[in-house]
Amino acid sequence: MTTYQISTELITNKKEKTPADQLGFGQVFTDHMFVMDYVEGQGWVNPTITAYAPIELSPAAMVFHYGQAVFEGLKAYLTEDGEVQLFRPDRNFKRLNDSNKRLCIPAIDEELALNALKELIRVDRDWVPSAPGTSLYIRPFIIATEPYLGVNPAKNYKFMIILSPVGSYYKEGINPVKILVEQHYVRAVVGGTGEAKTAGNYASSLKGSELAAQQGYSQTLWLDGKENKYVEEVGSMNIFFKIDGKVITPALNGSILPGITRDSMIQVLKSKNIPVEERAIAFEEVLTAAKNGTLEEVFGTGTAAVISPVGELKWLDEIIAINDGQIGEVTQMLYDTLLGIQYGTLEDPFGWTIKL
Ligand SMILES: *Cc1c(COP(=O)(O)O)cnc(C)c1O
Repeated sequence: MTTYQISTELITNKKEKTPADQLGFGQVFTDHMFVMDYVEGQGWVNPTITAYAPIELSPAAMVFHYGQAVFEGLKAYLTEDGEVQLFRPDRNFKRLNDSNKRLCIPAIDEELALNALKELIRVDRDWVPSAPGTSLYIRPFIIATEPYLGVNPAKNYKFMIILSPVGSYYKEGINPVKILVEQHYVRAVVGGTGEAKTAGNYASSLKGSELAAQQGYSQTLWLDGKENKYVEEVGSMNIFFKIDGKVITPALNGSILPGITRDSMIQVLKSKNIPVEERAIAFEEVLTAAKNGTLEEVFGTGTAAVISPVGELKWLDEIIAINDGQIGEVTQMLYDTLLGIQYGTLEDPFGWTIKL
């Protein structure tokens, strides 16, 4: 057991809450935040809950130049009994440390991080929205703060957690999205940083999203960076295909982000005796299945939307319609199951939820 003391500096004049129907995603922030600094020779010091406010950094802070930045995304949900619960938060802090390792950032104490998060949410508890489908989005992140233009791992870092009440992702019902298969750009390569949750992966994915949007598609389907052949992810979500009764998702090969929603979906499928395979899947296999009528469902998974059904794929000049542009049966079941567990309306046989 580590010993640590989180100091708390509470504010006195609280901000006004945004009405639930005006909450978008990631635009409103709560009254407090968590901050902890890393100082070479001392380790992580001064864990503090303090007023949500701008931070001051040197223009030479290394994060601005060489991109040592990692982050996480998870949510807190208000249950019908008025309790606040988190969904598998231990996995997020474990993954944050995996990302740290890849970017030469010193590891954080995962237990301290989880306790700090719980304490922060307790302080800002009245910011957890209660309207159906709303939640409190949680953004832990670490940046290199040392002012230095030399290229090596920084000697100083900041670990912060900020909270943002977010609106319902599917206000107008779950509408399947149209996805463009990207032919030129790639999101990540094996040996690169694809399996780390790092800012740079997002910067390099923007071009593909922009090109997709120009053609009227809402996201990019990413193929592998070496052979441009195997399916990797959709936008910033993991991807699943249901072909001939079987659910298939790309195996974690080093360039795919190991999603916690992805892992949860696999476990739910197994518990319902629906066959699920983690393996390499060539886009050609998807195309063949579409042509012979066995491509039944396609969906992306991630914390923000939980599940995003795909209604259409465009590959070169070919347009593949999936399930007549409707959400599939298994997609709907997975959505209902996960949301039910997260909001506490369904039993949690997996032990995934943690009350504050
Ligand atoms: C965060 C992320 C996901 C989804 O991970 P979850 O833990 O399910 O939210 C998938 N792909 C990428 C590239 C991501 O950054």
